[in-house]
Amino acid sequence: MGSTQPLWEDQKEGRWFTRIEVTTMLNGAVLALPLHVVTGRREGPTLGIITNVHGDEFLPTTAIRQLLSEMDTTGMKGRLAVISVANPLATANFGRQTPEQHGRTDLHEVFPGNPRGNTTQMIAAAITEHVISHADAFIDFHSGGSGGRLQARVDYSARAEEDVKRRSFALARAFGMPFVHENDLTGTAAHYANGRGIPAFNPEMGGSYLGPENTALYAKQAIAGLTNVMTALGMLEGTVKPPRQLHFGLKSRREIRPKNSGYLVSLYERPDDLGKLVKAGVKLGEVVDIYSYQVLEEMAAPCDGYLFFSRYSGVVGAGTQAFALAEAATSAWLE
Ligand SMILES: [Zn+2]
Repeated sequence: MGSTQPLWEDQKEGRWFTRIEVTTMLNGAVLALPLHVVTGRREGPTLGIITNVHGDEFLPTTAIRQLLSEMDTTGMKGRLAVISVANPLATANFGRQTPEQHGRTDLHEVFPGNPRGNTTQMIAAAITEHVISHADAFIDFHSGGSGGRLQARVDYSARAEEDVKRRSFALARAFGMPFVHENDLTGTAAHYANGRGIPAFNPEMGGSYLGPENTALYAKQAIAGLTNVMTALGMLEGTVKPPRQLHFGLKSRREIRPKNSGYLVSLYERPDDLGKLVKAGVKLGEVVDIYSYQVLEEMAAPCDGYLFFSRYSGVVGAGTQAFALAEAATSAWLE
């Protein structure tokens, strides 16, 4: 893998679209990945972007559709190479993972993939060969899905080698979200890219079915973030000054998961709830049994921490992450 010429090799300035064939499906159709390429007037880096690795996360791809339609290539250096639906089978199933009769069906865990592996691994291998192998920087863009998650952060791999980790961190900051999280990204496309010396990160922001105001807010932030990263890479003119951001690692991450399934009544379900300092013992929400109408449990903050992950009220399964805090004592503000 990696020795092939990029599919966009002959493309001049402007937009181009093609499909990368992966395999034949049981319904007889060809499984193919959509590849959008925008080439600038002048030479420069290639920024690879994938969205819908999890099939129900639609905010990034719809924001990128708008970004591409507004892109002025006359002032742009290099190119954008975007896989707009990385896992079409998961998307067609309205779910996170590939519906196939094998293990390892989460595309977020199988990179660099395997052209002789299961279907999920074949998809990963095609993305590795045709996008990651030719990228100078890489973004694996996630959002909340049908589960109603609320988040506004950028993750970068805790396990990357020092130089590429530093460059990934700088791009993650440039994206401009209020939280920057050094996370365990083992098995992800971004972590694999890091192993090849390519700076990479995962935004986790916005979601699906958030209503018109919040969808517009997050779409605007997604476009601003990608524009900032292109500027930081020298693809667009200008400079980027990251905002004040909370930086936290794995040991600061405190997840609050219900012991029971039921209807979560969330007390933190607005975008500006993210970033609030919640004191230990403060109630975050409760789980109601939709059969007996009893309150099954209340959830409270286990420590003083900044809320970086929340959920809208709705049904949750036992053990699902409902809230998450960055422990105040071990997190740091970056000015
Ligand atoms: Zn995801």
